[in-house]
Order: sequence, then C-alpha cells, then structure tokens
Amino acid sequence: MDKQHIYKKFEDALKAEKIKLTPQRQAIFTNIMDSDEHRECDDIYNSLVQDDITVSKATIYRTLDILVKYDLIRKLVIGDGKAKYEPKIGKPHHDHMICIETGKIIEFDNDEIERLQEEEAKKRGYKIIKHVHQLFVKPIKDAKDI
Ligand SMILES: [Zn+2]
Repeated sequence: MDKQHIYKKFEDALKAEKIKLTPQRQAIFTNIMDSDEHRECDDIYNSLVQDDITVSKATIYRTLDILVKYDLIRKLVIGDGKAKYEPKIGKPHHDHMICIETGKIIEFDNDEIERLQEEEAKKRGYKIIKHVHQLFVKPIKDAKDI
C-alpha cells in the first residue's frame, strides 16, 4: 500500500470520529508511520518535541486510540499498565514476544502457527479477521528452566 493510500485511511478515520485534521495530528501520524520501533506515548512525545512540534500528551493519546481503533497502528500492552505502539498498516504481519525481565520485544512470524489458528477457527465455523498474539517470556538461563 502506498503512502498516499495510507494517509487517506488516516483522514477517513478522523472524519469518521468527527475529529479535525490538525497539523499536530498529521505530525503524530507521520512520526509513527516513519518509525520501525515499538514506542510508548512518551517516546513519541519526546520525538515530536525534538522536531519542534508542540502537542499535548492528551492529544497524542487520543490520536493513538483512534489509530488503534482503525487498525492503522498496533498497541502492545506490555504489563505495568504500559503500552507500546508501532505502525501496522502497510507493514508485514508479525507477532511479539515480550521479555518480562528486560522488556525486550522480539518480533516473530511463524507460518505453522498462522496456519494452525486459521484451522482452529475454521473448524468452529469462523474466519479470523485479526489476531493478537503476544507471548510473555523470560530468558532460559540453564537446563532446568526449560
Ligand atoms: Zn512489532
């Protein structure tokens, strides 16, 4: 999907929510789409401040919620009430492992898992339209951990 098409989806989402397209919201959206990282609201805020963009954290949170609702970005709830965000639309599908000791986020994609979950849904007469697959992990330090 090209950038213009993705941007149109953003405009449509705001319109559907009856929210004005302001330069601040444009900047938030562009900032997220241009990043490949998993970032918290504060990270996004700091990055915007660095770019000399004045925007409140409340506006960022509100915009993030809309972007999540319309499937343009993904929200990862990582524990401690914290959440990280990453661009979703136009990016290849992947799932996540989150290390509970270090907070490290590992992306993975496994065709076999994808196939098995499709199969399970189909068996029950359903088709998967989206899924959230998050594994909380900790490092294996020795053999007895396995
Ligand atoms: Zn990711």
